[in-house]
Amino acid sequence: MKAIIAGAGIAGPVAAIALQEIGVEVELFEARDAMDGDEGLFLTLASNGHSVLDVLGLDAFIRAEPHIPTPRIAFLGARGNRLGTVSNGRSTTGAPITLMRRSLHRALSVEAERRGIAVRRGCAVTGYRQDENGVTVRCADGYEQSADILIGADGIGSKVRAAMPGEQVLPSYTGLINLGGILPGSGLAPTTGEMRMIWGSRAFFGYAVRNNGEAWWFANIGDAREPSRTEMHKGRDGWADQLTALFAGDLPLMPDLISRTSEIHAYPIHDLPHVPRWCDGRVVLIGDAAHATSPSSGQGASLALEDAAYLAVCLRDIADPGAALARFEAERRPRAEQIVAEGRRRGAYKAPRSSVQMWLRDALMPFVFRFLVTEKSLAWIHDYRVPQTAA
Ligand SMILES: Cc1cc2nc3c(=O)[nH]c(=O)nc-3n(C[C@H](O)[C@H](O)[C@H](O)COP(=O)(O)OP(=O)(O)OC[C@H]3O[C@@H](n4cnc5c(N)ncnc54)[C@H](O)[C@@H]3O)c2cc1C
Repeated sequence: MKAIIAGAGIAGPVAAIALQEIGVEVELFEARDAMDGDEGLFLTLASNGHSVLDVLGLDAFIRAEPHIPTPRIAFLGARGNRLGTVSNGRSTTGAPITLMRRSLHRALSVEAERRGIAVRRGCAVTGYRQDENGVTVRCADGYEQSADILIGADGIGSKVRAAMPGEQVLPSYTGLINLGGILPGSGLAPTTGEMRMIWGSRAFFGYAVRNNGEAWWFANIGDAREPSRTEMHKGRDGWADQLTALFAGDLPLMPDLISRTSEIHAYPIHDLPHVPRWCDGRVVLIGDAAHATSPSSGQGASLALEDAAYLAVCLRDIADPGAALARFEAERRPRAEQIVAEGRRRGAYKAPRSSVQMWLRDALMPFVFRFLVTEKSLAWIHDYRVPQTAA
């Protein structure tokens, strides 16, 4: 069997490696000419995502990249008062980690190529046609190639999804803008074992500090109306001024980190709560293309890794490609959609609405973290392991 995978981000290289392991010939078509440069910030791999890397023998490559062990998330109030702690799950090979998205992407891509998987860069998939014998994939430069299946791992703005028949869905704005940056030599002590998240009076903040003092931070600000591209391009100083004003009077650490950071990344957060179809005959969507989730879930990359591994199990155990892809969708959709909804729910708590609500939140949260949001209540996310058979 031959598979073409559109997109060599996170899901793409891992799907390629998992398929190669079961004897499928794979080629990756990636729209970008080179591996992602400095784009993107950091993301967390929870224990469910790590377990996929373990099974494929990839965990050691990822842990060799700069990272911060983040087995826990500590939640603080606006003035630094501790409200509670939640777990990111338990991993067999070590703590869940936070790492730069580009490190994860590069390590996975390099390893896929080292294992002999062909990557055609600068090749943006625009569509496909299929019959009972196979699928022919079309690229923007006119190049065409045929295979037995096409896997759309081309992210939230998937062109493979757009080429599928039926109702089209567009990413949905979540009402939050994500900002963040990296500050080397922050002077802060390492946040050993935890990501700290702070419910500020007017916005949400998160940070973790590496052993070498480098601070990784993000902020989420609520804006019910989706900002235009022009509004998003207000430059480093524009964002720093806005954030500093939003965190004025809260824990001084926040304006301090922001004002000393030389580059601030900003993007509106979108998700995809429900994509009507994930597969069309010999074509299937995985990762963000099928179910992009807000970073508030902490699960975008982990879900993409789960998809990659489970798709390989389906293709190994079910002889007919169309039936294997349909089984993949049927099994994965409920979990993925539940996690996207969870990301939305968590995001809604980030944008403060009134001082009374904030007061209530600070008063109630210690009980919530003690009795309701616990390792046990989150086990459905973190303790999930990809089934080893699709039978
Ligand atoms: C540049 C970039 C920066 C990101 N930064 C962050 C971040 O800071 N924090 C965070 O939580 N998440 C970030 N994400 C999203 C995160 O990587 C995903 O949510 C998650 O890891 C799921 O991965 P994925 O492989 O499904 O999608 P993605 O990681 O988005 O990968 C999709 C890949 O498909 C390629 N592609 C797109 N269109 C086509 C096409 N038509 N043909 C062929 N290839 C195509 C893209 O170039 C990309 O390499 C980023 C994604 C990208 C692309």
